Amino acid sequence: MLGFDFNSAISNFALTWLPVMFFLLMCIVVYLLWKTVKLMPRVKPMEITPGSASAVTWDDVAGLDEAKEELQEIVDFLRDPARFEALGARVPKGILFHGPPGTGKTLAAKAVANESGARFYAQSASAFVEMFAGLGAARIRKLFEEARKNAPSIVFIDELDAVGQARSGHSFNREQDQTLNQLLVELDGFGPRDQVVVMGASNRLQDLDPALLRPGRFDRQVLINPPDLKGRRAILDVHTRGKPLGDDVDLDGVARQTSGLTGADLQNICNEAAIGAGRNDRATLTHADFDYALERVVAGLQQRRVVTDKEKRILAYHEAGHALMSHLVGNQPEKATIIARGTALGYVLHLPEEERYLETKEELLDWMVMALSGRAAEEIVFGRVTNGAANDLEKVTQIARAMVFEWGMGESVTSRTMRADNYALSEETKRLRDTEQARLTDAAYADAVRLLSKHRGALDRVSAALLEKETLDRDELAALFAGVEPESRSSDSVGVVRALGVDPTG
Ligand code: ADP
Ligand code: MG
Ligand code: ZN
Repeated sequence: MLGFDFNSAISNFALTWLPVMFFLLMCIVVYLLWKTVKLMPRVKPMEITPGSASAVTWDDVAGLDEAKEELQEIVDFLRDPARFEALGARVPKGILFHGPPGTGKTLAAKAVANESGARFYAQSASAFVEMFAGLGAARIRKLFEEARKNAPSIVFIDELDAVGQARSGHSFNREQDQTLNQLLVELDGFGPRDQVVVMGASNRLQDLDPALLRPGRFDRQVLINPPDLKGRRAILDVHTRGKPLGDDVDLDGVARQTSGLTGADLQNICNEAAIGAGRNDRATLTHADFDYALERVVAGLQQRRVVTDKEKRILAYHEAGHALMSHLVGNQPEKATIIARGTALGYVLHLPEEERYLETKEELLDWMVMALSGRAAEEIVFGRVTNGAANDLEKVTQIARAMVFEWGMGESVTSRTMRADNYALSEETKRLRDTEQARLTDAAYADAVRLLSKHRGALDRVSAALLEKETLDRDELAALFAGVEPESRSSDSVGVVRALGVDPTG
C-alpha cells in the first residue's frame, strides 16, 4: 500500500456526511408529508343561518306534501319546545330521509331548518371517512359540539351509507367503525332539551347499519319518491318562478312528458330552457326552448354520431317496429327518431296518459311485445338481428321475471311469489318458475313477429319516412298509421290467451 489508509478515509467521509444527508432526507420527507396534508381537501361543514340568502323556505319545496306534513311537526317542536315538553312528548331527534338522488332530501332538510329558525349544519358522511384513524370521529365530535353550542340547530348528514354501512364480519375497517361509533355516541348523547335534531339522507336504506335505526337514533324515516304528475307540475312552477314565460309554454305538457324524472332533473330542464332562450337572444322562454331542454336532459346531449347507411336502415326498421307496435297496442307514440341521443341510438317516446301505479297483466304483456318489436322488425326485414336491442331485452327480462317471481302472473304460478332469495323453493319449483319466465318473453317475441309481419306495409312506410326525416312527430306518425287498426289486447283477453298459448276453456 502507499500509506494511504483507505478504510479511515471512508469512515471519515461517512462520519461527516452521513448525518448531513440523513438530515436533508428527513427534511424532504417532512416537507412532502406537510404538503400532502395541506393538499387534502379540508371539507368544512356547510352552515346556513335562518333567514340568510341561502336559506330555503317551504315555498321552494314543491310536491313533497306527505313529507312536509311529517316535517312540520319537527318545525313546531323546534319553534316551541316547551309546549311539547309540557305534554311529555318525546320528539324524534333523528330523521332519516331516503329516496333516489335529486328528489329533494337536502332541500327539505334545509327548509325545515329555516322554517323553524334553526341553524343548519350539513356535512357529507364521506367527509368523515378519513385515511387517518380517529380523524373522522374527531370531525363528528366537532360538528355536534358546534351544533349544540348554537342550538336550536339541525345537523344534516348526507350520504349516511358512507359511514353507516352494515358492518360485515370479513372486511373489518377500524376507522369506519370508530366513525360510526362516534356518530352513535353523539346521537345518544343529547336529550330533547338540547334542541338539536339530526337528519340523515341515504339512497340505500337496506345497507345501513341497523344500530343507526334503533329507537332514539334515526327512528323516524321519511321516504321521498320521485314526484308524480302533480308534483312535477308544482316543481316546474317553483323553477320557472322569475323566468319570463312565453304564451305558448305548456308546463302541464312538460310535466306529462317527464314521468320518472326527479326535482333535480326538472330544475335542470328549466335552466336549460332559459339558457336556450338566452342563446337565441329571446326575451322570453318559448315552447321550443322547453322541447329542446327536455330532449337534452332526457336523452343526453343532442349530438349526431356518424352512422353508416346500412346501420341507419337497420335503426330505422328497429324504431319503426317499436313505433308501429305501440300504435297496434293502442299507445300512440309521441315521437320516433333515429338520431342518437346519449347512449340510445334512437328511441320512441310515449306520453303516459295518466299516472299509474298498477298495471294489469295484459298491459305488461303489451308492453313486452312493444319492447321486443325493435328486434322483431330487424329479424323480419333483414333475417338477422343486431346487438342494438340489448337494452330492450334487459327491460323485458326484468318485467317477465317480476311477473313470475313476484306478481303471480305466470301461467300456473298465479297465487304465490317465487323470489330468487327464497331458499325454501324446491329445484322443481325453480325450474317451473324459470320455464314460465322464458315462456312469457318467448310468447311476446313471437307475437311481435306475427303482428309486424301482418302489417309489413305500414312497417315499411314508417321506416322509409324515418330514413327520410330522421324524426317523426305524433301527427306524422298518425298519418302513416292511417288505416291500420289497433289490435289492443289490454282489453282483449283472447289475445292474451293466444299470446300465452293457453286456453282457459279447454
Ligand atoms: P337530494 O338531496 O335528494 O339528492 P337535492 O335536495 O339536493 O336532492 O335536490 C337537488 C335540487 O333539485 C334542489 O336544489 C332543487 O333545486 C331541485 N329539487 C329537487 N326536489 C325538489 C322539489 N321537491 N321541489 C323543488 N325543487 C326540487
Ligand atoms: Mg342531497
Ligand atoms: Zn329498441
